[in-house]
Amino acid sequence: MIIPFVDLKSQYDSIQEHIKTALAEVISSSEFIGGHFVRKFETDFAGFLGVKHVVSCANGTDSLEILLKAYNVGIGDEVIVPAVSWISTSEAVSNVGATPVFVDIENDYYCIDITKIEEKISTKTKAIIPVHLYGQPADMPNIMRLSKKYNLIVIEDCAQAHNAKIENQIIGTWGHAASFSFYPGKNLGAYGDAGAMVTNDDFIAKKIRQIANHGQSTKHNHEIEGRNSRMDAIQAAVLSVKLNYLNDWTNKRVKNSELYCKYILSKNKVPKIRPSSNHVFHLFVVRVEKRDDVIKQLEKNNIQVSIHYPNALPFLECYKSYNHKVSDFPVSCEFVKQIVSLPMYPELTEEQIRYVSNKINNE
Ligand SMILES: *Cc1c(COP(=O)(O)O)cnc(C)c1O
Repeated sequence: MIIPFVDLKSQYDSIQEHIKTALAEVISSSEFIGGHFVRKFETDFAGFLGVKHVVSCANGTDSLEILLKAYNVGIGDEVIVPAVSWISTSEAVSNVGATPVFVDIENDYYCIDITKIEEKISTKTKAIIPVHLYGQPADMPNIMRLSKKYNLIVIEDCAQAHNAKIENQIIGTWGHAASFSFYPGKNLGAYGDAGAMVTNDDFIAKKIRQIANHGQSTKHNHEIEGRNSRMDAIQAAVLSVKLNYLNDWTNKRVKNSELYCKYILSKNKVPKIRPSSNHVFHLFVVRVEKRDDVIKQLEKNNIQVSIHYPNALPFLECYKSYNHKVSDFPVSCEFVKQIVSLPMYPELTEEQIRYVSNKINNE
């Protein structure tokens, strides 16, 4: 049995007819950039989230950067980010000229550790970017409490957590604004690069749309310099089709995570779910002692696995000049040595999950 890490083909097979129709409509309309397919997806996704504004853009890294710009975060400012994430989270901060300030993660839920944020806040701190890592919501109630106390902007990085909830409130609606990626492998994925920014703030909504469109508010009226960051109509049409399935796919991911938890015998290996929250399992990450041996064993049995991520962000080569100390990030540093991401997608079968789990049990 070969078990791929992700299986976008079997998802396509299940929705083929709708996708083909949608793509044919885009091509025959010749509205490739902007136009009604893009507007429709923005409206659809706003309705899904229950948020006032969705502004589409080219990818989930641009969306972070454009939001930071819109909030005037730049040179001399500091932005708090978790020590474990994909590099986009901190890269966006550096790319607007600000400094990423890393905070260790929670040992239980792997998101930014709320108890370690305050010691990193300085007079230069402007914003926090919590990441809902692997589909687990960050501790948003407490993050919003801190943001009020210190007057900080909160931009949620929702790239891995479409449809996750905490206290029954969907992520992306907790902070001042939020960033989504629709990279093909995400829980809601396009057939290429795509991203979106969401907010209830009218002023910020206008500003991000302007920045993403060369600084124009109306055609040829460039009040500021912006950039070119747009979602194309093909991606928007695919996303509108796929959004109809997101609830169903989310339920299947959760069900698959429950099966992994049932079949993997050692309970300290499997992820915990934060109380009062709905984890959407973008990734199913287990912690193991002898990682190299486990990976070798899984790969020998044709099970594709991955590591998200092999290094904590503060220790990437590009941040060497900050001279970060391991003792500042004890949980993150231990964590990244133990983790393995197992195959996870809605279409996984119980038989496949049992097969993978047995190999883990044998280690
Ligand atoms: C995927 C991802 C992004 C970036 O999304 P792209 O669309 O690939 O630019 C940002 N943050 C996190 C946590 C991600 O996983």
